[in-house]
Parts: sequence; structure tokens; C-alpha cells
Amino acid sequence: MREDSYKHKGLRAQLVQHLRNNRGIDDEAILKAFSTVPRHFFLDTAFSEHAYADKAFAIGEGQTISQPYTVAVQTSLLGLQPGDKVLEIGTGSGYQACILLEMGARLFTIEYNRKLFERARKIIEELGYSANVYCGDGSRGLPSYAPFDKILVTAGAPSVPTALVDQLKVGGKLVIPVGNNRTQQMLRFTKVTENKIKKENFGDFSFVKLKGEFGWKEK
Ligand code: SAH
Repeated sequence: MREDSYKHKGLRAQLVQHLRNNRGIDDEAILKAFSTVPRHFFLDTAFSEHAYADKAFAIGEGQTISQPYTVAVQTSLLGLQPGDKVLEIGTGSGYQACILLEMGARLFTIEYNRKLFERARKIIEELGYSANVYCGDGSRGLPSYAPFDKILVTAGAPSVPTALVDQLKVGGKLVIPVGNNRTQQMLRFTKVTENKIKKENFGDFSFVKLKGEFGWKEK
């Protein structure tokens, strides 16, 4: 288990102040989760001083831990309530997963890359959270555990996989970045009734590519 020193706690408090004062994040439950989850545990020890900068960072296997601001925005768009059954697609480092768990989600999370999956599963457990962590193609969702209250995609998709909309409960929300391989629009779909979907756009972001059947085809 890594150490969570006063220095780390201090840097974490500064990151929370930054999200609040400069980035307009005002949801106290989200800010509390950010001040609790030790982000440096999700980076290699050599890079732990980068953990509390508001930046994305490489975690190996060509993937990144999302920027704190992006994690905060995606979490806020979900409108998470404690006890919500949530599917996260793209576990990556496991950091976003731990933010959702800290906020009381019943979490299912799926990662495509086996090495990242194993690392994330271990750290989520070490931090004392309980989640259902899977390795596989999340672009198809997780039909055997559907429906979900909330679905969060943390990689950029070329289009919206219909399977994900199908796996939402009525009243449920899907947050997914959709666009080309450089820029994506942060979209939120709300299943208003079984046949009515509301779509909202929250502007440009940049994510690594969603792979798999309904993601970008690998060359
Ligand atoms: N939520 C992560 C962000 C990781 S970046 C964090 O907090 O660190 C996006 C992740 O999505 C990468 O780890 C990538 O391997 C994964 N990914 C890409 N396509 C996927 C797919 N079809 N199914 C599951 N995971 C996928």
C-alpha cells in the first residue's frame, strides 16, 4: 500500500480548490470525493508529483488517466445518486471508478486492456472499495447486468453505440464523448421514456479512442 503523506493531502486540497475556484465545479459531493481519493496511487511512484496537476497523464499501454477537470465534468453530468447502478466503460487507471465508488455508486466497470484491468482491479480493492471489474469490450455495454441508472464512457467514440442506450433504465443517463480521433463532443443522453431520448451537448473534449466492436476499428 502506498503512503498518503501530508504533502499529498496538501496537494490534493489545492487541486480541490482549483476545481472549485477556477473550473466552476460546485457539487460538494464531487469535491469531497476528489479530496478523499488519493490520485497519486494511480500513477507510477516516479510520477507521483504529477498526480495533483489538472492534467491527463500517461498510465502505460498508450492510455491515460483522465484530467481531473474531465473526471469532475463527466461525474457531474451523470447526476449520480448514492446507490445508483453505474456502468463505466474504460476503467483505465481506476481513478474515475474510485470517485464513483466514493460517491456511493454500485459500480460495474470494464476495461479492454488486460494489464490495465489487472492493475486497476488491484488498486480499487487495496483502497477498500468493492466493484465489479471486468476485462473485455465495453463498446457493447454489459448486457447481462443491464439495465443501469447511469452509463459513463471514458474513451472517445466515433458514434453512439445503440447497445448502450438500450441498457439504460427509464430516467437513466449515458455520458459519452463522440467525435473524430482528435476532438469529441461531450454528449449526454437521457432516456425520458422507453421511446424518447433527450440529447444534450456539453462541448469539446479530447479522449483516447474507444476500441472494440462499436469503437474505432484497429488498423
Ligand atoms: N476512466 C479512466 C480513463 C482511462 S482512458 C481513468 O480514470 O483512468 C480510457 C480507457 O478506455 C483506456 O484504458 C482504454 O484501454 C479503455 N478502452 C478503450 N476502448 C475500450 C472498450 N471498447 N471497452 C473497454 N475499455 C476500453
